[in-house]
Amino acid sequence: MKFFFPDSQDLVDPTFDFATERRFAHRVRHRDDLYAHEVFEQRVCDGLLVSKGIVDGLSGGAGKYSMAQRHRLLRVGATEFFRLNRPDRPILETMGDCGAFTYVREKVPPYTVDEVLQFYTDCDFDSGISVDHVILDYQPRWDAGAVEAVPAAVTERQEITLDLAAQFLRKCSGSKLRINPLGVAQGWSPKSYAHSVTQLQDMGYRYIAVGGMVPLRTNDILTILSAINDVRRSETRLHLLGITRTDVFADFERFGAVSFDSTSPLRQAFKDDKNNYYAPERSYTAIRVPQVEGNADLQKRIRAGSVNQPNARRLEQRCLELLTKYDRSEAQLDLVLSALDEYEAVHSPGKSVAGTNRDTLEAMPWKSCRCEICRSLGIHVVLFRGAERNRRRGFHNLFVFYQQLQRTGISGHGDRVHSMPATVLVQ
Ligand SMILES: [Zn+2]
Repeated sequence: MKFFFPDSQDLVDPTFDFATERRFAHRVRHRDDLYAHEVFEQRVCDGLLVSKGIVDGLSGGAGKYSMAQRHRLLRVGATEFFRLNRPDRPILETMGDCGAFTYVREKVPPYTVDEVLQFYTDCDFDSGISVDHVILDYQPRWDAGAVEAVPAAVTERQEITLDLAAQFLRKCSGSKLRINPLGVAQGWSPKSYAHSVTQLQDMGYRYIAVGGMVPLRTNDILTILSAINDVRRSETRLHLLGITRTDVFADFERFGAVSFDSTSPLRQAFKDDKNNYYAPERSYTAIRVPQVEGNADLQKRIRAGSVNQPNARRLEQRCLELLTKYDRSEAQLDLVLSALDEYEAVHSPGKSVAGTNRDTLEAMPWKSCRCEICRSLGIHVVLFRGAERNRRRGFHNLFVFYQQLQRTGISGHGDRVHSMPATVLVQ
């Protein structure tokens, strides 16, 4: 299965100095900062998924793109904008979509088919997904009754999605676009998803994106895909929107899935409570060393007088110092752990992560990772601290995730990657 990494303008600054935490004064973000696919020699995804909702800054994607970046993407196209055409780099595919989760609360999608086609044309994507509207209700029991039992607000979303898919395909074939079109199947039950796929196939689609399954349990997803498989023509291929259930990849492939997209490897680095750092056999929890200056909660307590700022800074600096010494085998583990405990009592009173700190520090998983991030960053990659470290850990996760896919997922045996939990995340 091909893995598309959804763009959300996640870049790292190569000039960032981890010892001083300073940047090069003349760094220009859009020129100097690096995307995940530029950091590694090896491929970490097969393509990029670019959402109009994110580029436009709709609610789910607000603040990701500046006005200047948006204009530049539309002017030069995705290949140039994401620097995908560098001679020494692997070739990545580009796929456009609308980012239906960014407007999921609206009654109707905020885009016309023409607007979306214009976006896809300007960006010059290899493939493009029809305009869709996510159905938030999932009720398999509605399959037992008459279709009239399903609320109109739910069926309307499917009708809108199918109608927009029909328009999209008509306009794609009527234009000189080289884009490979995908129609979106939305549903509220296995049967209703199968109905969508039948309709899309009748329209002429041979590549279908299955949407709205992000919040569902793995068993529900498999039931839907099985129902779709009953009506799927042998030449119809599926893309799974926002799904990373690596333990059932073999089933996904059996049901016709050839591609998927997911932000989980990146997001888990800094959104998950526990599984922040991927290793081949399991995940580790990152070591929390928040910045006194950058931590809103801590700053509030400093202003209220319950935390002494110079003391907090001293504990923070001591943790950083001991952690880097530990990485060079110049400090004892117990000394590092007690410094972390002492600082934690100040930044997160009442919590204790001593167990996971010990687990991660004892195992030193960064020492055995051969990715560019771990080799250059050392212990900093497991520190939960600021965007430069957290995002690099996310990039490392992408590297590990893609390596696992190469070894297992793509060849149809997904069980080796069970250690990466299928956390439900919005694409
Ligand atoms: Zn690594």
